[in-house]
Amino acid sequence: MTRDTPSSQVEVYGRSVQALVDAMEFLTGKVQRVLASHGIASLDPEKWYPMSAVLDSFDDILKQVGPHTTRAIGLAIPKNAVFPPGIDSFESALLSLDQAYRMNHRGSGDIGSYRYQRTGELSAQMVCDNPYPCEFDQGIILALYGRFQPKGSYVLQIEHETADCRKTGAVACVYRLKW
Ligand SMILES: [Zn+2]
Repeated sequence: MTRDTPSSQVEVYGRSVQALVDAMEFLTGKVQRVLASHGIASLDPEKWYPMSAVLDSFDDILKQVGPHTTRAIGLAIPKNAVFPPGIDSFESALLSLDQAYRMNHRGSGDIGSYRYQRTGELSAQMVCDNPYPCEFDQGIILALYGRFQPKGSYVLQIEHETADCRKTGAVACVYRLKW
């Protein structure tokens, strides 16, 4: 079962769309052409854009440029998107991810979520049932780790807990994080 495309009434804040452009300076022209082909001719960080157009752009980028680039866009998200105040650790960043997601989208429609659960001293589970690509969410999680690296931790492992992946049509990816 794949999720229906969220209603075209949902919009994405331009600052988080800006990550698409910022992540790939060397591909800016290409990204801008993809965005323009979905009706986002010029990107204003303070404006809002239809989520369906943003998701279609991601689809094209994933197909035309590949998963590494999609991950790189995710890596650029925490620099750009609006985050709630008071985040000072990797765990608080992961906990606030769902709220941040909601701050960067508006309108009515099911946009899915980011559900964080601590599973151990140095491990957690993150369930992502939003319509963005798997690699994109992995990039976001990696960037948050890089920004709020826990003391004594040098690497973050991200693995799928089950065979399900949005890449192959599942509604959610369940990640097991170890750091
Ligand atoms: Zn996945």
